[in-house]
Amino acid sequence: MLLEHLQAKLDAIRAQDLTRFTRIAETGTAPRQTVRGSDGTARELLMFCSNDYLGLAAHPAVADALAEGARRYGGGSGASPLVSGHSRAHHEVEALLGRWFEPHIPNARAIGFCTGYMANLAVVTALGDGDAEIFSETLNHASLIDGTRLAKAPVTRYGHCDVDGLRALLAASTARIKLIVTDAVFSMDGDIAPLPALLALAEDFDAWLIVDDAHGLGVLGELGVGSLEHFGLRSERLIVVGTLGKAAGLAGAFVVAHETVTDYLLQAARNYIFSTASPPAVEHALLTSLALMRGELGRERRMHLRALQARLRAGIAALLDRHPSLPWRLADSQSPIQPLIVGGNAEVMALAAALEREGLRVPGIRPPTVPKGEARLRITLCATHAQADVDRLVAALEACA
Ligand SMILES: *Cc1c(COP(=O)(O)O)cnc(C)c1O
Repeated sequence: MLLEHLQAKLDAIRAQDLTRFTRIAETGTAPRQTVRGSDGTARELLMFCSNDYLGLAAHPAVADALAEGARRYGGGSGASPLVSGHSRAHHEVEALLGRWFEPHIPNARAIGFCTGYMANLAVVTALGDGDAEIFSETLNHASLIDGTRLAKAPVTRYGHCDVDGLRALLAASTARIKLIVTDAVFSMDGDIAPLPALLALAEDFDAWLIVDDAHGLGVLGELGVGSLEHFGLRSERLIVVGTLGKAAGLAGAFVVAHETVTDYLLQAARNYIFSTASPPAVEHALLTSLALMRGELGRERRMHLRALQARLRAGIAALLDRHPSLPWRLADSQSPIQPLIVGGNAEVMALAAALEREGLRVPGIRPPTVPKGEARLRITLCATHAQADVDRLVAALEACA
């Protein structure tokens, strides 16, 4: 019965052109990656899909640090952090991140998690208790949404970047603890939340602002500290989740906030307490990748990334001018995530397949990840792309137009 039940659901997914599948990467994360397709053949593709924005995943110093960490600590951490899994390297990564955020959050402390998904579940469920009300932005990442589903607090959604709507909701709330929860850079749209206005609301209504900076860390700001640095924000009311598998090139995540918040997470976050700590070698390597991110290499790569963004946007804008009847629309994004909204599910998958025949991999994103009728190519740029790579993408899109 179960198999028939599941097969009927799989058939329904297929009928809507929504079937998802994995492909096997035969080489490491890089703009040129050898990938095995569903037909079994391996090809080198020019990739516009990874979140390794600074190209640190394949940096030799990061790989060396990972190997050194493995020689020092071996493989796994062996236990949860509160038992015996919290290594010297875990401690140093947390201390480093606490110092990074001190200019933006007074008394900042960081607490590490294995993934961003876990960190988001932790912060939203631990703080979103029966005394709280959660105000959640409509386009938040799935992990924040799952956090709100698990939290005891009632959840009120507000519209995308709708500051006035949120103000009205906060004004009407009688909750003792108010938590505003938002992505900083929206992962499927690439636009940036109006954090200064949201923080002003938090100050006015005695609320707290939880910011998921998965796509801002390493990318935004002069030093790569992310969206708080980008906007020059400083407040005790800021609680930031950062992920370390994207621009930091490795894996893991952290919550950084006033030390009372992180002290409480350590006591109360079930996925911190009941889950094995990340491998210490990964933490050891993070000390290297975070130093690269903040240093001269990071600064140069952030500048290059911004130049690539501008070149791609100009190229696609010119293409759309030449083809005014095309229904495509380039999202208004100031980040390395540059979505090209195509419309239908079948259309976007056909476009992605046509690009792949030309040797380019740009993923099509369909509902429910994005709204119905807004299926899109999610183009992501990395600092390891050359300007010629961007030109090749624009030329290939023109050929498909
Ligand atoms: C990727 C992502 C996460 C999850 O982080 P992982 O470390 O990959 O689990 C959380 N929030 C946003 C906005 C993301 O893009």
